[in-house]
Amino acid sequence: TKYVYEFAEGSRDMADLLGGKGAGLAEMTRLGLPVPPGFTVTTEACKVYLATGEEPDELGVEAAHSLAGLERAMGRTLGAPDDPLLVSVRSGARFSMPGMMETILDIGLNDMSVGGLAKASGQERFAWDSYRRLIQMFGRTVMGVDGDLFEQAITAHKERRAVVGDHELDTGELVALTDEFKDVIRKETGEDFPQDPAEQLARAVRAVFDSWNGERAHVYRHREHIPDDLGTAVNIQAMVFGNLGQDSGTGVAFTRDPATGESGVYGDYLPDAQGEDVVAGVRDALPLSELAVIAPRTYAELGDHLRALEDHYRDLCDVEFTVERGKLWILQTRVGKRTAEAAFRIAHDLRADGTISRDEALVRVDGAELTRLMFPRFDTTPADVPLAHGVPASPGAAVGEVVFDSTEAARRAAAGADVVLVRRETTPDDLPGMIAAQAVLTSRGGKTSHAAVVARGMGKVCVCGAEALTVDPVARRFTTEAGVVVHEGDIVSVDGTAGTVHRGALPLTASDVRRALETGTGTGPVTEAVLGALAHADSVRRLEVRANADTPEDAARARALGAQGIGLCRTEHMFLGERTALVESMILARDDTAREEALAALLPLQREDFIGMLAAMDGLPVTIRLLDPPLHEFLPDRTELAVRVASAVHPDPHDRQVLHAVERMHEENPMLGLRGVRLGLAVPGLMAMQVRAVAEAVTNRLRAGGRPYAEIMIPLVGTVEELRLARAEAERVLAEVTAETGTHLDCPIGTMIELPRAALTAGRIAEAADFFSFGTNDLTQTTWGLSRDDAEASFFPLYLEKGVFGVSPFESIDQEGVGRLVELAVEAGRTVNPHLETGVCGEHGGDPDSIHFFHRAGLDYVSCSPFRIPAARLEAGRAAV
Ligand code: ADP
Ligand code: MG
Ligand code: MG
Repeated sequence: TKYVYEFAEGSRDMADLLGGKGAGLAEMTRLGLPVPPGFTVTTEACKVYLATGEEPDELGVEAAHSLAGLERAMGRTLGAPDDPLLVSVRSGARFSMPGMMETILDIGLNDMSVGGLAKASGQERFAWDSYRRLIQMFGRTVMGVDGDLFEQAITAHKERRAVVGDHELDTGELVALTDEFKDVIRKETGEDFPQDPAEQLARAVRAVFDSWNGERAHVYRHREHIPDDLGTAVNIQAMVFGNLGQDSGTGVAFTRDPATGESGVYGDYLPDAQGEDVVAGVRDALPLSELAVIAPRTYAELGDHLRALEDHYRDLCDVEFTVERGKLWILQTRVGKRTAEAAFRIAHDLRADGTISRDEALVRVDGAELTRLMFPRFDTTPADVPLAHGVPASPGAAVGEVVFDSTEAARRAAAGADVVLVRRETTPDDLPGMIAAQAVLTSRGGKTSHAAVVARGMGKVCVCGAEALTVDPVARRFTTEAGVVVHEGDIVSVDGTAGTVHRGALPLTASDVRRALETGTGTGPVTEAVLGALAHADSVRRLEVRANADTPEDAARARALGAQGIGLCRTEHMFLGERTALVESMILARDDTAREEALAALLPLQREDFIGMLAAMDGLPVTIRLLDPPLHEFLPDRTELAVRVASAVHPDPHDRQVLHAVERMHEENPMLGLRGVRLGLAVPGLMAMQVRAVAEAVTNRLRAGGRPYAEIMIPLVGTVEELRLARAEAERVLAEVTAETGTHLDCPIGTMIELPRAALTAGRIAEAADFFSFGTNDLTQTTWGLSRDDAEASFFPLYLEKGVFGVSPFESIDQEGVGRLVELAVEAGRTVNPHLETGVCGEHGGDPDSIHFFHRAGLDYVSCSPFRIPAARLEAGRAAV
């Protein structure tokens, strides 16, 4: 195995091995962009190290060889006393994890070479500043010294000099600081800061490997569903310096605006600074356009490189760059993270100018982004004066309690509160709080600050650089310019689209995209892009998209959002409210007559329900599931009732009667109890009433000139015998109604497949079914043998943490297990009945990954809640291209 690749040897296709950063550096080198030379240690080397605690044997030799090559190319030797070569040691995994792992700059400086650097650069202060930065970074990340100890030493010096910025410390102070830093390290670790450049390099590489398993990297991967075993590559690269004076600097640039998707170069620039200063937001950067004034030639050259990169990657790219004494260097590129708005707009624009195809444009956006665009936005009037304005870094509307640190954010969120994390600026240590928060608000930093980059990646609302706010995390409050004080726990509204923060909870209104989806028209670049992407998705997708809806209002809403029918109409919701009394008398009936009376009273109500559904979905299929839950769900709680009966002097006879029924019907495992088809077969007349209601509703709609397509669905079937019995009963009632009305009824009868036995015997079951609908919620519960309601609250967090599964099998279908059953059943069912219609109802019908799986499994449709329909249409389209 080869563990080291020079930049010139790699390419963009090698991101698995070289990491995203390494592959980008290699690709830019091949394109002839000005990249400081260097080489990459592969993720394979990292994996060996993480597994065994030792670098692979070959690594030392290969790295030494590449270093020698780098030294020859640069004409300098690592850490040489006269004119030293310095390198950076940069982490870079397959997937970008901004700031989550370590990078160490200025490796090669020591007590001797710092003088050489001073002489070669002609700048003594710069050399000592670089040296103290190295000791600080190395001490913290490699030697494990608490970073605060260094910060305290810096603060002490600044106070003594009465200055505020690090850059105001002079050479003498930096020299003194360097000594203090070394003392700190010695005191904390019992070891000296290593003077040997080779040792510095080797230990820095190890530290980067180790940072793969750091706490915050772990948290970030978990949240982003990045596997834990990929490892990171390490890039060793010749240093260039942006902090050599006013003709130097560093910045970040985008080929388009990552927040809005608008075309045109965009970014931040910080003169006389080292790269890490921009991302940390420690000093306020200038808009990139200023560089055009400061250094027009450099700006023009940067523009050329950005265009070249966008043409090459055919997508939005971002770069990190440094200018050293007027010479431009590109230090990083990648296809940049962007907001949902920008994703749609960029894909649309690139398609419109012919850079990418329609199919490709569709693949560039996803259902999660579309869903985000459908969330409500604030409905503000000019009278709503914001507390402050900042940079609109990540759009959306969020309301929550103000918190000032990550721990408090996580604590309150775990207790169910919506929180807004307010910081001066964020660091990677704030990650848990950012994950917990609805929005992030900072008083410093621009669109490329840590807060902005991370929030955008997560789709969180973010306003940064609200400079009018004075944030006091110790007193747990912030103060506005006008003197308004907002304390921890106070409610604020953060508008990430406008870049404002308001006191209290502002009213919300439907988003433009949502409104456009419901009406089919809308203006504005983002709306047009969304409608365009959906139109293409609709034209290519094979999967139909239906809705899970139980009321005519929901059905109408779903239809407006593009539903092609109802895949699941739950009838139990129609038994609630004032109707529970009727259900109760049905359950309590002492004899057939009493039961028939109760059922007869329910019939017209149920018929009206179905008429409403069929009218709302006129011309489209409506799949009606017969009653599924155990009957005692319609009765009062057992314990409450028992207490009432026991504590009353003269217990209500009705209460007693109900209690008796509740006790008789009590089940230890209701999920596996008398429910579904079992109920239909066990309670005389119930199924007949429901089927009759469907049949009469269809007749009614036909007479009204409608086109009703009702499908009767029998739940929780385990064997074909159950379905045969239920079907016979349903057909008997359908024939009865036809005889009464003279209207022919064409009503498919099918079943849910939600028990493993049903899936395994699907060939038999298909003999009696016109359609299968996979109830993947129950199928997941019964395949895994666990109860969703209990498990999600108890051991799922642990399982996710331990990586037993990367995502809950209730959220995204377990393709290997539950999915296998779906595949088996579809195949066996179709073999017996080539006209068998197959679909999915249940949460998975709206989940992007699951939709792709159902497409591959050859299903006819997915069904999901109305709000998820646009995203499901989009994903079904993406699955098909
Ligand atoms: P991250 O992945 O967190 O962005 P990087 O490896 O990109 O970390 O390093 C952080 C910053 O350090 C970069 O933005 C860059 O400006 C600076 N840097 C890294 N390597 C060099 C180098 N060889 N010369 C100058 N600056 C560098
Ligand atoms: Mg970087
Ligand atoms: Mg079910």
